[in-house]
Amino acid sequence: MSSYLDTEKRSVSRPIADAMGRPLHDLRISLLDQCNFRCPYCMPEAKFHADYEFLKRHQRLTYDEIIRVATSACSLGVSKIRLTGGEPLLDKNICDLIERIVKLSGVDDLALTTNGILLSSYAEKLAAAGLHRVTVSLDSIDKNIFRKMSGGKGDLEKVLAGIKAAENIGLGPIKINVVVQKAVNDHTILDLLEYFRGTGTIVRLIEFMDVGNRNGWQMNQVVPSHVLLESIQKRWALQPIDQNYTGEVARRYEYVDGSGEIGFISSVTEPFCGDCSRARLSADGMLYTCLFANQGTDLRESLRNGADDDELRDILSRIWLQRADRYSELRRPEVAEHHVLRKVEMYRMGG
Ligand code: SAM
Ligand code: SF4
Ligand code: SF4
Repeated sequence: MSSYLDTEKRSVSRPIADAMGRPLHDLRISLLDQCNFRCPYCMPEAKFHADYEFLKRHQRLTYDEIIRVATSACSLGVSKIRLTGGEPLLDKNICDLIERIVKLSGVDDLALTTNGILLSSYAEKLAAAGLHRVTVSLDSIDKNIFRKMSGGKGDLEKVLAGIKAAENIGLGPIKINVVVQKAVNDHTILDLLEYFRGTGTIVRLIEFMDVGNRNGWQMNQVVPSHVLLESIQKRWALQPIDQNYTGEVARRYEYVDGSGEIGFISSVTEPFCGDCSRARLSADGMLYTCLFANQGTDLRESLRNGADDDELRDILSRIWLQRADRYSELRRPEVAEHHVLRKVEMYRMGG
């Protein structure tokens, strides 16, 4: 059986495409399912309380196991890797993993999504470990609304300091993820855009999505991106710009006055499954091929039962070749069955 060290050195790449012709380009790795926030749209406090049982250490993949999966994925075409969670910065050894992932053959983009509350103390170490860039989730520039949307855990000043620290150390261009919810934070979006205009930071406005089954999602809480776009354009002139690459999830716009870029992620009203090239690896080693999946493939079991590198690559390859997911294109919120689909929660799968 070959070791993970052999795996890390392997560089032969055989890109594959799924049943709808979509390549495997991106791998999102969830490091842990725990989080220090309780955003109601993701991990509502009432359901994720003090007694909630998160994964135990032995249930989570080790770094060696993550590296083996990532290496296999790279050999099938993955070039972009994102570390996420739960809150990935709760994993105190994350920099050790970053150092290893960034050296994998084929990886040309290594990013991290974080709620930013611990970012100022980590930014320098993350950059030194080789991380390329960070995305910070920040739903409002109004400190009370931000606090509410983090489930009472967030501190706006700390997150802004984290963003500054990341920018100063070269982890940019920083992207800011904003989940927009009707009558919760939609009236504060212009202030947030104003704050970041001209700084080089890219704000991405995300439609509130029906991920998982615990956030009480209703269609009437979604602010369609086109509505948001219209209200932004009343304040600043915007023009559409081209995608950076095929499969980019955000629709990009730039301020006509040269003050930078914003993006819209409109999974609900303008699905983009046609180009979706993302696989997700959960902290307990399940591989999912869609954010809205209700089942995945247990790679931890294969890894711990001694699957060698060829077997692992075959498993991944089989999963991807069969993939036909296009949940957002098929979503029908008005149909009762839609609400009883048993989807995997996002904090678990990795956002
Ligand atoms: N804890 C980290 C963070 O919040 O950045 C990483 C994990 S979080 C699950 C990843 C992303 O998913 C965040 O940007 C978050 O805003 C987004 N997200 C979570 N629930 C969502 C929902 N129901 N609709 C849209 N985006 C959501
Ligand atoms: Fe935690 Fe991120 Fe989910 Fe908020 S969105 S609860 S920060 S995992
Ligand atoms: Fe990709 Fe699934 Fe989202 Fe469609 S719904 S874009 S297939 S993750």
